[in-house]
Amino acid sequence: MYVAPLTKRVVELRWITDTEEYQGKYKTEDFKEIVPPLDDGTVPESVSQIRECPRCCSLVTNSYLCPTCGKEFCLACVTEAEKDGCKIRVCVDCAEKIKNPLWHLTKKALWG
Ligand SMILES: [Zn+2]
Ligand SMILES: [Zn+2]
Repeated sequence: MYVAPLTKRVVELRWITDTEEYQGKYKTEDFKEIVPPLDDGTVPESVSQIRECPRCCSLVTNSYLCPTCGKEFCLACVTEAEKDGCKIRVCVDCAEKIKNPLWHLTKKALWG
C-alpha cells in the first residue's frame, strides 16, 4: 500500500501465474495493476512515481512542477503565462494571479 502525498490511496496488485502450455511445459506470466488506474493512462514503474494533482485530483506520473507555488500539477492543469516579458509555464491558479495580482485578494475579501 502506498499512500500518495495527498489523499488518494494507490495499490499495486501483482500476481504471477503459471499456465501449462503443453505437455508439462509451463509459462510464467507476471501481471501488474495499479488501482485506481492513473488518469493520464500511463503505467508507472513503481508507485512512488505517482503524483496526485492538487488541483483536479487526478493521479498521474507526468507531472509538472510549478515554479511559482512549488506544487506538482498534472499537465492539464498547467498553462502558459507571461511574467516580466517571458513566457513561463505555471499552474492555472498562478497564471490567474500573474494576470491579475488583485484577483486572489478580491476573492479573499469576497468569500473569506
Ligand atoms: Zn490537474
Ligand atoms: Zn502554481
